[in-house]
This record gives sequence, structure tokens and C-alpha cells, in this order.
Amino acid sequence: MKNYGAYQTTICSEIRFSGIGLHSGKEIHVRVHPAPADFGVRFKRGDVLNSESVKVSPFSVLSTQLATSIKCGELPISTIEHISAAFYGMGVDNVLVEVFGAEIPILDGSALPFVNMINEVGIKTLTRKRKYLKINRKIVIEKDGKLIEMLPSRFMKITTHIDFDNPFIGYQKAFVNITPETFAKELAPARTFGFKKDVDQLWSLGLAKGGSLDNAVVIDNDKVLNPGGLRMPDELVKHKALDLLGDLALIGYRFFGHVRAYKSGHLINNIFARSLLISTDLYSIIELEEELEAIGSDIPAIERSFATA
Ligand SMILES: [Zn+2]
Repeated sequence: MKNYGAYQTTICSEIRFSGIGLHSGKEIHVRVHPAPADFGVRFKRGDVLNSESVKVSPFSVLSTQLATSIKCGELPISTIEHISAAFYGMGVDNVLVEVFGAEIPILDGSALPFVNMINEVGIKTLTRKRKYLKINRKIVIEKDGKLIEMLPSRFMKITTHIDFDNPFIGYQKAFVNITPETFAKELAPARTFGFKKDVDQLWSLGLAKGGSLDNAVVIDNDKVLNPGGLRMPDELVKHKALDLLGDLALIGYRFFGHVRAYKSGHLINNIFARSLLISTDLYSIIELEEELEAIGSDIPAIERSFATA
């Protein structure tokens, strides 16, 4: 199992893409630029003169309705969670995302197109070490029947549970030990989903104008309306894990811990990320002694790197 490694990274060259915005239905262009160590993942409005670039943080989140939106100066950039999850999951630490509009294109509703674009240009290792958040004591956030907790672990693990009063979905659980490989294979392809009755209501309110069967799984009572069906049997609960990872990416550190989420969504994900960051007595920020990828799943060696942190 290839892990994230000790050193920071960026992309080897610029990525350009465009696509429809989920909310506006408009075509939006994006350029992702390589960036130096300690720059972080920053977003900037390319369509606005003198727009400042903003380093993402759970505290820069403006709205969690339908998607995660951040504020960039006084302006919003919406639907950042899938591209954020892709940088986080693939191990990309430093990039400037220049968006020529108010939202990141929804593309196919998953993080797979971003993963493919990152793989096409390649990832470059920088000379400065990456910082990890290592959880030492359990943290739990509960709100309106939803729950997210993080427990100490030597790995970066996510378990998500969903429980819908719907015959097609019902109760489902997914567990992933996150590495660039498992992220690309198991989480990135999982698409956004919604119910036909909600889509009809959103359209009547002038929302989700760009939403279609090309960028979301749509469920009508006991069936999927998309002609191709699901990409994997647990695609929906895996998408919840993808969203959670995208929202946790805003903390700026990959973590050593096990996140367990029950009925999670963007709002509680953001509350959890904020609560985690301010609970400085529950975690340590560490650097790794050596390349984790050279250690693989050798647990004693990973512990050794903790011991020296
Ligand atoms: Zn999503």
C-alpha cells in the first residue's frame, strides 16, 4: 500500500478545464497552477480584476447548502468539495485554483475527472516536509441526529454510514483506508446523488440549473433513473465519504485518525472541521521521519516516525 510520504508536492504543470456549473448552468473555465511549498491549496476568482487568492480553511466556508462554498474576498466560489477531495486524496498540497466564475464545474458529479487531470500532468515532490495532524484523543460532534467522530489511528481511515427512508438506498456503510491508490479507485468515481422529487423542487426554485443525469445519480423511489445505473454497488455511501474528505481537506493537513460519520453532510462536516482545528489539546502536528511509501504497511516503522515527532 503506497502512502502519502513525508514531503510536500505540487502538480508538474498547469491544468486547464471547463464545464457547466451545477448552480448556474453556465460554462465556467478553470486553471490550476503549480505552487511552491507551504503555499497550500488556494482559490482565486480569475474573472474579477485584482481578486485575492484565499488559502482554504474551514473558517472560509460561506455556505454548505447543496455544496460547500468559500468566500474569496467578498465573492463566493461554490462546489469546491470534489476538487478539494481530489488534491487531498491524491496527495497534492500546493496549487492555485483560478476560477473564471462563481463555482467549480460539476463535470460528472464525482472527483474522477480531477484525478485523471492530476495524473495526466503528474505530481512533483518538493523539498519541504508536509505536516500531518495526528489525533491523540477522540473528538465527537453530534447535531440533529447526525454524528462525526475521529479516533486515534496509525492510518487515514474513513467509515461512513447512511440511512435513508427509501427502498433503493436504506442503510449502507462504507470503510476506506485512504491512500492515493484507494482514493482514486474507491472514492473518486462515486457521483453526487439526489432524489427526483428534490430535483424537481430545486428546479422550480431556480436552483441546480446545471443538474442532470450527466452529473448526478438521480433516484426515483426504488430505482436509479440514470441509464447506466450505479458505477459501484456502494456508490452513494462512498460519495458521502468523498464529500467528507473534501470538506476535511480544508483543515490543510492530512490526518492520522479514523473518521466515522453517520448521516454526514456539508454542514456537519464543516462544523466538525472547525471544531477539530480549534481543539488543539486533542491532536499534534507532526512531520514524518522518512518516506511512508518506503515503509508501506510496516506498522512499527510508522510508530517510530510518530515517536520522533
Ligand atoms: Zn458531493
